[in-house]
Amino acid sequence: MDFPTPQPPANPPTTILLDKYELGRLLGSGSFAKVHVARSIETNQLVAIKTIDKKRTAKAGMEPRIIREIEAMRRLHHHPNILKIHEVMATKTKIYLVMELAAGGEIFTKILRSGRLQEPEARCYFQQLASALTFCHREGISHRDVKPENLLLDKEGNLKVSDFGLSALPENRTSNGMLHTACGTPAYTAPEVIAQRDYDGVKADSWSCGVLLFFLLAGYTPFDDSHFVIMYRKMQGRDYKFPRWFSKQARFIIYRLLDPNPATRMSIEDVSETKWFKKGLEVSEFGSSVLDSDERLGRMRSDTITAFDLISLSSAWDLSGLFERRERKRTRFTARVSVEGVVEKVKTVGEKLGFRVDEKSEARVVGLSKGRMMVMVEAVELVEGLVVAEMKVVEGVEEEEDESYWSEIVVELEEIVFAWHNEATLQ
Ligand code: ADP
Repeated sequence: MDFPTPQPPANPPTTILLDKYELGRLLGSGSFAKVHVARSIETNQLVAIKTIDKKRTAKAGMEPRIIREIEAMRRLHHHPNILKIHEVMATKTKIYLVMELAAGGEIFTKILRSGRLQEPEARCYFQQLASALTFCHREGISHRDVKPENLLLDKEGNLKVSDFGLSALPENRTSNGMLHTACGTPAYTAPEVIAQRDYDGVKADSWSCGVLLFFLLAGYTPFDDSHFVIMYRKMQGRDYKFPRWFSKQARFIIYRLLDPNPATRMSIEDVSETKWFKKGLEVSEFGSSVLDSDERLGRMRSDTITAFDLISLSSAWDLSGLFERRERKRTRFTARVSVEGVVEKVKTVGEKLGFRVDEKSEARVVGLSKGRMMVMVEAVELVEGLVVAEMKVVEGVEEEEDESYWSEIVVELEEIVFAWHNEATLQ
């Protein structure tokens, strides 16, 4: 008996993600994630979607790293050379990071293909990297894993720094401001990080930039990491050779960046002041590579703060629900009154309802406690005239939270509330 041979469908079925994105080809796989091209159904915009498997990351204890990556990218949203993250979505088993598409791929692949770069092109990438890192550092974030695999290119060839999974946010520091987790990739990692001493993340990034500039100009790294101990000794002893085609100025900068002593090592901001670095900045051959002046960065921040901070209020940015943990009660509201007005009102409400009222030293934070339960209200002025407050349970047990304290406070605050945010999901 003859069976008809099954024919493949004319158009392979497309995968639609959460009714919003049509998933396209696989761009690459990382250790815990897959990255696909995707198209927004609503806007037709092409994006990259990183799909993270919650089960695998939970097993490997990767959750903090993922949260850190999202949090860092969210805080660095404004810089043209930092890969933007548009949206975060999650299901029970997966997390989807919807990001800007870097259609030009990794700079690493470019070097593998072309061998090495000519100095003007290498400088242009270096300028963009320096601009992005200076921005990060001013925001109190160090990248900690600068290497060519984490430097992507968009379709115009502009550099996009990605992979903030190892980045250090200021709150992860020890009391003296130093970091102590060894991380990164050995060939690009500063000796003090390898030695697992407390280190300054900003200076560690400087070292990696030195290795990177060497790599862009040479096509290989100054230290070979196949013998770890030997490599470490060579780093300490400045034991590497410049290829003959490196210019005098490039040698000087790399030499100063690859200073084994972080205290005397050149900072990225200092490099930005050198003649070599400034060359070609005004009339750039490679698109938007111009190092942002302080002034421009300042403007960029204040112009965009409203949009950015309002985005951060939307539930798409609420990272607390990414991993399934019991979330304590939390809500936010925009206020009709000033920060001081919110603080005063919360204090009055607390006293009226019989809470112990604690005003924190920051003056815009008030704690209300009763028994084991504590509710905290913090108000900030996002831009002039726009005051947003967050109210959350910071201590207490579930049964107590279910009692009427929460709704009593909510009702009493109503007078100063312009609009509640996330009320439906968070209350
Ligand atoms: P890793 O585990 O190394 O951090 P990722 O999971 O971040 O890797 O990324 C996997 C691959 O997808 C890499 O090859 C990277 O170049 C590529 N990739 C990641 N993000 C983007 C993006 N926004 N646009 C284009 N390619 C990307």
